[in-house]
Amino acid sequence: MENIKLLKSGEFLVNEIESKDIFIPEEFNEEQRMIAQTCRDFLEAEVYPNLEKVEKGDRELMKSMLKKSGELGLLGISIPEEFGGFGQSFVTQMLVAETTGAGYSFSVAYMAHCGIGTLPIMYYGNKEQREKYVTRLASGELIGAYCLTEPGAGSDANSGKTNAKLSEDGKNYILNGQKMWITNAGFADTLVVFAKIDTDRVLSAFIVESRYPGVVIGQDEHKMGIKGSSTAQIYFNDVKVPVENLLGKRGEGFRIALSILHMGRLKLGANVVGAAKKAINDSVKYSNERKQFGVLISNFGSLKYKMAQQVIRLFASESAVYRVSYDIDNLMKNITVDCGDYGRAAIEAISHYAVEAAILKVVGSEMLDYVADEAVQIHGGMGYSAEMAVERGYRDSRINRIFEGTNEINRLLVVDTAMKRAMKGEFDLFGEAGKIYSDLSRITEGKTDGENYFQEKQRYIKNFKKVILLCIHGATKRFEKNLINEQEVLNNIAEMMMETYVSESLAMRVEKMESLKKDLSLYRDILNVNLFDTANIVRKSALEAISSFCTSESCPALARAVENLTRVECVNVKDARRRIADKLIDDNAYKF
Ligand SMILES: Cc1cc2nc3c(=O)[nH]c(=O)nc-3n(C[C@H](O)[C@H](O)[C@H](O)COP(=O)(O)OP(=O)(O)OC[C@H]3O[C@@H](n4cnc5c(N)ncnc54)[C@H](O)[C@@H]3O)c2cc1C
Repeated sequence: MENIKLLKSGEFLVNEIESKDIFIPEEFNEEQRMIAQTCRDFLEAEVYPNLEKVEKGDRELMKSMLKKSGELGLLGISIPEEFGGFGQSFVTQMLVAETTGAGYSFSVAYMAHCGIGTLPIMYYGNKEQREKYVTRLASGELIGAYCLTEPGAGSDANSGKTNAKLSEDGKNYILNGQKMWITNAGFADTLVVFAKIDTDRVLSAFIVESRYPGVVIGQDEHKMGIKGSSTAQIYFNDVKVPVENLLGKRGEGFRIALSILHMGRLKLGANVVGAAKKAINDSVKYSNERKQFGVLISNFGSLKYKMAQQVIRLFASESAVYRVSYDIDNLMKNITVDCGDYGRAAIEAISHYAVEAAILKVVGSEMLDYVADEAVQIHGGMGYSAEMAVERGYRDSRINRIFEGTNEINRLLVVDTAMKRAMKGEFDLFGEAGKIYSDLSRITEGKTDGENYFQEKQRYIKNFKKVILLCIHGATKRFEKNLINEQEVLNNIAEMMMETYVSESLAMRVEKMESLKKDLSLYRDILNVNLFDTANIVRKSALEAISSFCTSESCPALARAVENLTRVECVNVKDARRRIADKLIDDNAYKF
């Protein structure tokens, strides 16, 4: 851990770290591998055999599965020993989120319980609240849920109408209102509920027990996917909530809600990696069994292309997931030393990486949608049959683009949060952007003689960052404060930021892998294709953005700069993809 360079959130736009500064999945230790194996065994023994039953609405069965996972210690991974858990590192927490991600509806119920249902109390609760609730949530004695969304308050979460008034005797808050789309609603014991006290403009948070009189749980919603996960409305009719169940301070609710969403986005980014591995395994196995035109369908170039893209996008997302996780662990260590409270340190470190959390959420959920969609396609007609796991995987994957903040909201957050952090002086985004812009006419691709393989890739990535800075500079100059209303341009910038961050994480991972092992040419294939794709995405996004803000004088110079900065050496991507697909097909499983 010594001498690790830690960047601030969003700072990757203007600064670099080295491959030694990141954690890569190839470095998991024996204990971490055993924890992951326990999760896999649990899915095989308890979850897969019960999926059909829970999907038919057996809430008690889902609850008992959660409790069984608690008996194995899987509900206490993020909870310190003092409160009945195992106090694992954030990297390990993300590994567990990844592995359980292959559990379809169970995974959603599990993540809601361990994450948004439990951690607000762990992070913001006082000692009594943690002892009373967190210890029992960590064991599975209690099941948790998180109640933020309302019929009129979705993306605009602070506009909720649920209200709390102090009772005359000052002992209780009287809660009234309605929450919607609440995961685990059907069987949760504790609810973290966000409401406004009196006429407050901001939310406060409360721990509400579902057994309190006046809490009414609606029927489960009929959903497209994750049918085994209970999702329902919850009504609060004059519910007496003891004053000691106020979580954090009055008015701190919105901050709690947002911080917990950052955590949820990070964990979702890991969760979808596990779901994607399952879909890839299912599709390659099928392609190695099904024959058409006298040969196995895995022989066809069209399917090899799909399988290679599944692997590349998954492998790249995974690289970013563990890069961020390790940053959080490192930051958490520094903060714990200062503040002495694990819970507060954890959420401070997690919230710090808000830009990267939004990136993992969007990139991961869209990666899974691609993987799940092509998994169905590789199965042909059978992919459309409810008998096949990929049909369930396809329906279940879709929700990830909607909850934990929609991908539209998260794309905006990627840019907005990075710009706000820069304005606060955390890193010099605008100064660097101005410098590049002032040198516009002299911008070249910057190729130097004798650069080695990784130096070349680092140059590409630095060039992509220059393109992003040029667009940020041009857009802020042109639109000034109105940039917030130019969502299409912000989306262009977000796209470039996300792809560049992921490519950089992947490049550092492959470089570090080479320092650990020997022949890894296949991973260079993955990196080569990824950078080829990223260059195209950056070029297209930049040209779109530029066309919206440049003048007829500045446009040609900007477009030329973008062309120079997104130039990558020609690689035979067809052959590279074939080699990647061939390994998958030979192994008959995802073993990258
Ligand atoms: C299965 C499921 C489980 C869920 N579990 C929970 C839970 O446990 N707890 C909980 O509190 N909530 C939960 N949710 C709610 C979820 O977080 C919300 O559905 C989500 O935040 C979106 O809100 P909305 O549905 O009201 O959509 P809206 O906010 O109405 O959005 C509709 C569309 O408008 C877009 N949009 C909205 N605002 C903007 C903007 N400013 N700029 C650009 N585009 C915008 C959105 O991206 C979206 O495309 C769950 C939802 C589902 C479906």
